[in-house]
Amino acid sequence: MHDFKFKKKRLFAEDVDLAQIVNNVGTPAFVYSRKTLLDRFNEIKNAFKKIDPLICYSMKANSNLSICKLLVKEGAGLDIVSGGELYRAKKVKVAAKKIVFASVGKTDEEITEAIKSNILFFNVESISELKRINVIAKDLKKKQKVAIRVNPDVDAKTHHYITTAKKQNKFGVDIKTTNSIFLTYAKKLKNIDICCIHIHIGSQITTISPFVQAVKKTVALIDGLNSKGACITHLNIGGGLGIIYKDEKPQTVEQYAKAIMPIIKNKGLKLIMEPGRFIAGNSGVLLTKIIHVKETSVKRFYIIDAAMNDLLRPAFYEAYHEIVATKKTKGKKKKSADIVGAVCESGDFLAKGRQLPDDLKQNDILAVMSAGAYGFSMSSNYNSRKRAAEVLVSGKKYQLIRRRESYSDLIRNEIVVNI
Ligand code: PLP
Repeated sequence: MHDFKFKKKRLFAEDVDLAQIVNNVGTPAFVYSRKTLLDRFNEIKNAFKKIDPLICYSMKANSNLSICKLLVKEGAGLDIVSGGELYRAKKVKVAAKKIVFASVGKTDEEITEAIKSNILFFNVESISELKRINVIAKDLKKKQKVAIRVNPDVDAKTHHYITTAKKQNKFGVDIKTTNSIFLTYAKKLKNIDICCIHIHIGSQITTISPFVQAVKKTVALIDGLNSKGACITHLNIGGGLGIIYKDEKPQTVEQYAKAIMPIIKNKGLKLIMEPGRFIAGNSGVLLTKIIHVKETSVKRFYIIDAAMNDLLRPAFYEAYHEIVATKKTKGKKKKSADIVGAVCESGDFLAKGRQLPDDLKQNDILAVMSAGAYGFSMSSNYNSRKRAAEVLVSGKKYQLIRRRESYSDLIRNEIVVNI
C-alpha cells in the first residue's frame, strides 16, 4: 500500500526513522516516499499497458517540483489548471505534448502562454472559452488541439464538494451542448481542432460503476459525433480513483483497467488519464508536534503545531485522516481526544473524537497519514502562519524539497504605504 511502517515501535518512511527528520527539519513537515509515488504511478501504467495511455499526473494534488520531476522522469505527462501550474510544468521540463490544461476560467494570459508553449490539449469547459481559444490561436497564427470537457451527468457517489459531473456542477458542458458545438463551431472555428473528449467525474471515487457509466456514455457520444463527420481521436477519462484513508475498499487499479479497457477497445482512441490522489495521497504524511495537552470538563484536546492552514481537508470536507504517534508509547489505555491546530476557527481540527494512547504528552510527534495529496497544495498562510517544510525520502536518504517558510516570506510582496 505505502512505505510508512513501524519498525521496532518507531514510524519509518522507507528506511528513514521519522524522528531523524523531525530533529533535522522540525515540524510541521510533509514527508513523502519516493518509492510509493513511483509504485503508484507504475501500477496505473502496468494495469493499462496493453493500450499505453498518456498518464498526466494531476499537479493540483501535489505540485512540488521534485515530485513532479520524479514522475515526469518516470514517463508521466502533467494535468494543469492554471498559469502557475504551467510555469511549474515547464520548470520540470515535461514535454509540452504531454500537458493537458483544464479549468473553467482560463484567462487570455493563460491561454496565450499555453498555446505558445505548444501544449497538447486545452480541456475546454464552455463555448465562450472555445471561441476565445480560437481568437487567440488565430492571433498567434497557430492551430490548437482542444478537448471538450463533457459533463456526463453521473453521480460519482463521493463528497458533494468533489463531485464534478452532475448537471448542477460548474464543470464541463452537457452532452446536448457538446453535440451542438460540433454542429455549429467545429468547422467554423478554423484555429482549433476539436479532437478529444474529456471527462472528470469527481475525486475519491471508490466504486467502479460511476466510471463505467461515464465512459460508456462518452464513448457513445464519440461514436455519434464521429459518424456525423467529427474526428475524435482521443478520450481523456480524468482522475478520481479513490484511496484508503480509513476503511474504504476502493476498486484496485487493475479492476478499474479491466472495466474501462473493453469499453474503448477497437474504437481507435488514444486514452489519456489524469490521476492525482491515487499517486500522491498515500505517498505522504504530515508530521506535527503536540504543543499542549488541554483537558476540559468534557474532553481532551491535543493542540498541535500543524493546523487547517497546513491540511485543510478535515476542516473543508470533514475528511478523515488516520493519526498515529510516531513512537509507540507504553500505555495500552486509549482516550478520546480532538486534535486541533492553533488557528482562530472552531473548524480548525485535524481529527475529532479520536482514540489515541492515554499517555501522549507535550512534544510527542504525531503523523497525519495519507496527507500527500491535497495537503501542501491546499495549504495557506492563514493567521500569518508559515507554510510547512517538505521532505522526500528515498531508501535510507532524505532531502528537503521545500524549505519551511520564514516570517520574511510572509510579507515579501507587501507594500507598506502611508495613507
Ligand atoms: N482532472 C481534473 C480535471 C480534476 O479536476 C482533478 C481533481 O479535481 C483531477 C484530474 C485529479 O483528480 P484525483 O486527484 O481524484 O485523481
